[in-house]
Amino acid sequence: MFDSLQDRLQSAFKTLRGKGKLSDADIDQVAREIRVALLDADVAVPVVREFIANVKERARGAEVSQALNPAQQVIKIVNDELVGILGGETRRIRFAKNPPTVIMLAGLQGAGKTTLAGKLGKWLKEQGNSPMLVAADLQRPNAVNQLQVVGEQAGVTVYAPQPGNGVGDPVQVARDAITEAKRTLHDVVVVDTAGRLGIDAELMQQAADIRAAVNPDEVLFVIDAMIGQDAVGTAQAFLEGVDFTGVVLSKLDGDARGGAALSVRSVTGRPIMFASTGEKLDDFDVFHPDRMASRILDMGDVLTLIEQAEKAFDAEEAAKAAEKVAGGTFTLSDFLQQMEALAKMGSMTKLLGMMPGMGQFKDQLANFDEREVDKIKAIIRSMTPAERENPKIIDGSRRARIARGSGTQVSDVNQLVTRFFEASKMMQKMAKGGGMPQMPGMGG
Ligand code: GDP
Repeated sequence: MFDSLQDRLQSAFKTLRGKGKLSDADIDQVAREIRVALLDADVAVPVVREFIANVKERARGAEVSQALNPAQQVIKIVNDELVGILGGETRRIRFAKNPPTVIMLAGLQGAGKTTLAGKLGKWLKEQGNSPMLVAADLQRPNAVNQLQVVGEQAGVTVYAPQPGNGVGDPVQVARDAITEAKRTLHDVVVVDTAGRLGIDAELMQQAADIRAAVNPDEVLFVIDAMIGQDAVGTAQAFLEGVDFTGVVLSKLDGDARGGAALSVRSVTGRPIMFASTGEKLDDFDVFHPDRMASRILDMGDVLTLIEQAEKAFDAEEAAKAAEKVAGGTFTLSDFLQQMEALAKMGSMTKLLGMMPGMGQFKDQLANFDEREVDKIKAIIRSMTPAERENPKIIDGSRRARIARGSGTQVSDVNQLVTRFFEASKMMQKMAKGGGMPQMPGMGG
């Protein structure tokens, strides 16, 4: 799911790479590409419209950030908006003050309700509840049996009408089940209801009647995430016909485009509470909007790093360093200090690529070895303060001493000193030319 959306969004962001500032034209272009990507993923048109309007507005209003470059800023905005259309906060089940808590399932036939009943049962049991599943789907010949099978797999009690005894009245079955749950001290009742292949009035009425009879704490609308554009109409019909308190996305493991997943919350105003990702009972979890958004962007790590960089980036320190660079007084001590500040923020390699102004060193960074950083740190630490301030005094015997002290080779020390001189020269030139790097570039 979302593979193609992922690719399209990535390539949209690429158009911003290397831009120092976002112009209106840049924003329009990236917005256009994101729009097409969402529409191609079957996201409902009104949802796309609002999404794009929000992204544009926020990108235009974005302040020039010290910590993030324009591409990162847009990624962050798109991520925030995705979290927003997916519902923001994680919504958990609201349990009744007086048990049993009643959870009713509704949705089209084949949406995955019966499977979900088993999954929920297992999950609830693992959470320390004592659930009971109720077979109120008397429409489909095999439904009662199917629920009994999943109930057994999940190790939870199933309440099913006895053959020939009240079969045909799912409302009565649901009512009786709750009485039974109270008697047998089950604290959660999951009521599976009938589905039809298409939306029809009788189905809606039956579900609405069950709802009225058992007054559920949660009504979960189960929707097949693979049904594409039909999702919106189906969800709206159930909203009007039965109403529901939450949504369960099933079949998120499929390779469909996933627009249902992205539209249903905005279209219905109801939170997505669970996601099903396979046929097995364990292929199921609480739905977290933020995790889903970063899965769609396929940039979980980058987003975390962006947040870290925003927090850890010390604009004052960076300005000081840049001044020193410009004035030619940037020393190995400054170099070490910058390096340690960066190392504190997390993985050096990834971070360097994210730091503003580091885009130009991209190729060098691609084969930047983190162990190399440790080596450099060791070498600089083995220098005397005088040597750090003025590396020109580092002669042959000093080099041998530094190498010994840092457990490196003399050639390593030579290389570092040479690189430092080269980098300072280059940065001085760049600083005069207006480009102000925050970190010395280092050869790979
Ligand atoms: P119901 O008619 O709504 O009760 O739907 P079922 O629970 O019978 O599910 C219909 C079919 O979808 C079954 O073959 C299930 O095994 C399958 N199914 C349910 N949930 C998922 C899921 O999350 N992923 C996949 N791949 N299949 C699922």
